[in-house]
Amino acid sequence: MKILIMGRPGAGKGTQAANIKEYYHIPHISTGDMFRAAIKNQTKLGMLAKSYMDQGALVPDEVTIGIVEERLQEDDCKNGFLLDGFPRTIAQAEALDKFLVSNGEKLDAVLDVNVPSEILVRRMVGRRVCKNCGATFHVEFNPPKVEGICDFCNTPLIQRADDTEATAENRLAVYDKNTAPLLEYYDKKHLLKTVNGDQPLSKVFEDIKVVLGR
Ligand code: ADP
Ligand code: ADP
Ligand code: ZN
Repeated sequence: MKILIMGRPGAGKGTQAANIKEYYHIPHISTGDMFRAAIKNQTKLGMLAKSYMDQGALVPDEVTIGIVEERLQEDDCKNGFLLDGFPRTIAQAEALDKFLVSNGEKLDAVLDVNVPSEILVRRMVGRRVCKNCGATFHVEFNPPKVEGICDFCNTPLIQRADDTEATAENRLAVYDKNTAPLLEYYDKKHLLKTVNGDQPLSKVFEDIKVVLGR
């Protein structure tokens, strides 16, 4: 099963990707998580990515495509993968197609978690993440059992540097300009499956299982 999960920033991609990974037993590959790990490790890639991420801008295509292609060549991706947050531009989508074709592979489905823009800034600003295990919470919509502490590993939760109101607004604008055209790109290939992301978390996952097949 080779799938993409798309959606505006804050739509719930990461949250649902964690469910999909566990249910379908495929690796979850998030370019945002890869960049954040590089920043934490203070690598050259991290320094470069940070200068774009702090503005809510996209990291350049050549860099992003390079890290994804490298990741997809690892053994755990042979029988399937879930890409989250990639591709985000037409150039990235074309590069992914080319890469898959050259390996005799193809995508099975592209999920679009659809949420209207109006509620997304609130989702991003209230997001809290565990930098130890990667779990995602929300102060109002998905609070941890103990305020500020990860349910799974007891680590204090943090707020992402780019989850401020101004940066969140910019990320939504960048999505509309660069990433929204991908929906038509994948629809033309008959791969696009849209689910309503403006529902309780568990209901969104139920709908995902219906469109992907159990
Ligand atoms: P969100 O979950 O809000 O959609 P991500 O974690 O996917 O955010 O991405 C955070 C940031 O990382 C983006 O705003 C962008 O700066 C960078 N980034 C992630 N994926 C890509 C990509 N495919 N191309 C370019 N930049 C990316
Ligand atoms: P993305 O990866 O698309 O940026 P996340 O999965 O990180 O989105 O979700 C963004 C925020 O919204 C998180 O704080 C998450 O807990 C919350 N969230 C995710 N799905 C829902 C939902 N269906 N209803 C309400 N809040 C949600
Ligand atoms: Zn944790």
